[in-house]
Amino acid sequence: MIDHYAVVGNPISHSKSPFIHRLFAEQTGQEMHYRAELGDPNQFESQVLRWMALGLRGLNVTLPFKERALALATHPSFRAQLAGAANTLRFVPDTTEIEADNTDGVGLMRDLQDRLGIQLKGKSILVLGAGGATRGILGPLLEAHPQQVVLTNRTESRGIALVSAMQSALSSQSLVFLSQSELVERSEGFDLVINATSSSLSGAIPDLPPNVWVHQPIAYDLAYAPKGDTAFMSLARERSARQCSDGLGMLVEQAAEAFYWWRGIRPETDSVLFKIRNMLATQ
Ligand code: NDP
Repeated sequence: MIDHYAVVGNPISHSKSPFIHRLFAEQTGQEMHYRAELGDPNQFESQVLRWMALGLRGLNVTLPFKERALALATHPSFRAQLAGAANTLRFVPDTTEIEADNTDGVGLMRDLQDRLGIQLKGKSILVLGAGGATRGILGPLLEAHPQQVVLTNRTESRGIALVSAMQSALSSQSLVFLSQSELVERSEGFDLVINATSSSLSGAIPDLPPNVWVHQPIAYDLAYAPKGDTAFMSLARERSARQCSDGLGMLVEQAAEAFYWWRGIRPETDSVLFKIRNMLATQ
């Protein structure tokens, strides 16, 4: 019998997850079917429970349902609880148990450290944004022992609340919030600047003072553009960033982690990333 999986979000038609998981399944010889489902904000929970009753084995969750997915879980992982959001659910057959995980952070770390060869120990990192993606990546970033992680956000209150929640959950002194004006006053630059805002999706660029770029940092955008650079990557190149990357590698890696959790077999990701880039380039 074929096992069924899905991704749920709203909107969902743009999702690359069905393409990625189909390639993983082919590559590893897994008998599975993976589909995209449009989530209904008025009845997300009952949708999930219905799919579960129909035998769905696992679900990827994207905007705007990650927090609600965590709330549905009977067994959330530590990293999902820390992030306050789940992007992957696993249903235990013939029970009402729902396990939840958040694979965004590990996806970013695999792309940054393993694929791009970026070492984070002792480094100074700036994270832009305080949304769901930031919640997922802060824990793993701090576990890599950077010298400091500075977080800034357009809406200061959201940034401050996230930093104080993370500081107490992780007992970390390495994470600080800086407002836009405090960032302007800071004289040191950064080794790595991560754009975890959704600004690139609208072609906008977060407002950043020139001192952010003085050390020619590496620039990483969690978003990706169908072709070429995101707006943030273009800005970073103009400001002489020494290396730029979009988040397509992270997308493939977070999917690989979910696939491994569901199927117990780790897919190879470089060839999948290559295929998805080609697919986007020809769209
Ligand atoms: P959220 O909606 O939860 O958060 C959005 C964040 O972006 C907020 O901090 C918001 O600030 C900020 N923001 C939005 N527009 C602007 C702007 N014009 N200028 C400055 N800040 C802005 O989104 P997520 O955290 O879930 O996603 C963030 C990005 O990460 C998206 O591009 C998403 O596609 C990407 N992502 C990529 C993944 C991958 O695997 N590569 C995985 C998950 C996410 P404010 O608080 O002021 O509103």
